[in-house]
Amino acid sequence: MTPVNYAYGKQSLDPGDELAVLDVLRGDWLTQGPHVQEFEEHLCKELRASHATAVANGTAGLHLIGLALSWKPGDVVITTPITFLASANCIVYAGATPDFVDIDQVTYTIDTALLEERILTYRASGVHVKAVVAVDFAGHPCDWAQLRVLADRYGFQLVNDNCHALGAMYGGDPGYAAAFADAVNLSFHPVKHITTGEGGAIVTNSAELDQQVKILRSHGMTKDPALLERQDGPWYYEMIDLGFNYRITDFQCALGSSQLRKLSSFVERRRQIAARYDAAFAGDSRFIIPSVRPGDAHAYHLYPLQFRLDLLGMTKLELYQRLKENGILCQVHYIPVHTQPYYRKHFGFSQGMFPVSEAFYEKVFSIPMYPGLTDEDVDLIISRIQLACA
Ligand SMILES: *Cc1c(COP(=O)(O)O)cnc(C)c1O
Repeated sequence: MTPVNYAYGKQSLDPGDELAVLDVLRGDWLTQGPHVQEFEEHLCKELRASHATAVANGTAGLHLIGLALSWKPGDVVITTPITFLASANCIVYAGATPDFVDIDQVTYTIDTALLEERILTYRASGVHVKAVVAVDFAGHPCDWAQLRVLADRYGFQLVNDNCHALGAMYGGDPGYAAAFADAVNLSFHPVKHITTGEGGAIVTNSAELDQQVKILRSHGMTKDPALLERQDGPWYYEMIDLGFNYRITDFQCALGSSQLRKLSSFVERRRQIAARYDAAFAGDSRFIIPSVRPGDAHAYHLYPLQFRLDLLGMTKLELYQRLKENGILCQVHYIPVHTQPYYRKHFGFSQGMFPVSEAFYEKVFSIPMYPGLTDEDVDLIISRIQLACA
């Protein structure tokens, strides 16, 4: 049946997912059971990485990455304005200083030329940039080869906020995320490619970083004999760092493994939907469709469609309401983070500082994109959008 309203995103669960969770609920462990490690192993396979740590949510993952990378007060860490708040907040959690670099107009990911300029400006005043949190926005990979070149040239740490891009490929490589970045962050919130309800993971090829985030995930405690100062007996543990309870449950991880088995079909379906949208909107000057760098594979967490409001003769709010009247419940990804009151007030950012991001925000809506949409749904969505724009 045709839904009356289409949201921008939605989870896809089937009876196999339900059984996977039920199975764990009927067993002995609700948390800290065997499914956590199993899910971590599955994530490693998927991302061609050597280590993964499943955590309570993606924001917790970013928090732990910043701590494990030793971000401290005085350190400058850079991200982009077009991202979810958490990509910037994790910098503040560590007490470091957040800064932004604008996005590229074509890929909507960090502009590497502007990034280098910004780093050189810092260097001129004796400030070393500690890290860059680059976001594979909407599911399109950043220019990772160039980011790696800059990271090596200027000695900064590289984090991939990969929450949108599970299933993407860079230069044909499905393992690019952990290959190029020092740490990769994932989220399994229901709108993302796979879900565990709330959930996230840190993926890395660094054994050292992995050990640190695993200790920080659970109160900074360890039972690892190699790390203990002494050994009183089998009950004995030591707290060697100030950690958190950022654990995820066993039944969530069982769901995660069950979902991960369907990832390639989910992403494939998202690409088919995107191709249908591309065909409908590409030739029409009132719309700007998301582009894909040759050789890369977009994972389409989002389909950010830009509307030329000047040609439509409408304000963004008017367009939003017309779309809503036609059953298309769009979202906006994202309100540029530097324009948020908190960031203006505490770090001195202001409107006008990142013009490409701000212009993007003015024009963009995320139109419905999730694997459960049939071709009929997609065609209906296209005709409703065209009607709203008429
Ligand atoms: C979803 C998301 C997060 C945070 O993930 P949660 O699991 O919701 O905490 C961080 N960064 C980006 C880019 C995201 O899309």
